Amino acid sequence: MKSKKSAVKHRTKVIKLDELSWKQIEELDKDKTIFFLPISPLEEHGPHLPVGTDLLTAKDTVTEAIKILNKKKPELTYVLLPAIPVGSCKFNTDFPGSISVSSKVVRAIVYSVGSALARHGFKFMVISTAHMAVAHLKGIYSAMKRLMMKYDMRVCEPWGPYFFNNEVEKREPKLGFDTSKEVHAGFRETSLMKYQYPYLVDESYKKLQSIYRDLQSPSVLGKTFKQLGLKDGYVGSPARADVDYGRWFFGEIVNVYVKSAIDLYEGKKQPDLPKNARFTMKALFWQ
Ligand SMILES: [Zn+2]
Repeated sequence: MKSKKSAVKHRTKVIKLDELSWKQIEELDKDKTIFFLPISPLEEHGPHLPVGTDLLTAKDTVTEAIKILNKKKPELTYVLLPAIPVGSCKFNTDFPGSISVSSKVVRAIVYSVGSALARHGFKFMVISTAHMAVAHLKGIYSAMKRLMMKYDMRVCEPWGPYFFNNEVEKREPKLGFDTSKEVHAGFRETSLMKYQYPYLVDESYKKLQSIYRDLQSPSVLGKTFKQLGLKDGYVGSPARADVDYGRWFFGEIVNVYVKSAIDLYEGKKQPDLPKNARFTMKALFWQ
């Protein structure tokens, strides 16, 4: 016979907040429960990848991280929040399927979710996003700061610091070409989706020409993809996509979440965004 707490205690399962009653949520150990919040916009990813590429990645990587954590550190409880299909991606809204909200909306959502948990005594939240646009991160980081100031809560967003500190380039298998130019829906993301969702990758990716553009340069600031001549909505070389790299990349992201969740619980300092990213984020207007 099942005990009444079986849904919460069943360790092989990923616990989802939306499947719990408030009673079951109340019974969770406030000091030993870590929540995971995936949040990324629906956004065009070239003519070959689905608009949910970032959202699916944000959700799947933490889901996998929770499965590992359930075994690695079973004394804690890990709860997955529903993935929120919201983010700031104004620069490619000239394609259908890109839905952008302002950084203020991102901030309000992350803050509302975090404070709803903190007001009931919960202390840990890991934010998962695969969307590295600075306007999106501005909303997330501002909400994190407010949450940690107002409540006895620790919150982190691990992928931004890893990504902006170029950890991917430092660790990835040697490929013989410059992967730092793979900015959007290029080699990395196409590889990732070939691994995660091969049936969602349109075969036309094999024929897409490599297109490179420095999106960090001040001259492109405020311009949309089409205004920059990126008529197909990708930057990089999708045709090079490789399922083995996708597997490596997926595992790498998962490991970052596993490590960050444990460090967050143990009170270790989390890696920060590098100075230049923090500066750009600060200089950006709230919109
Ligand atoms: Zn993406």
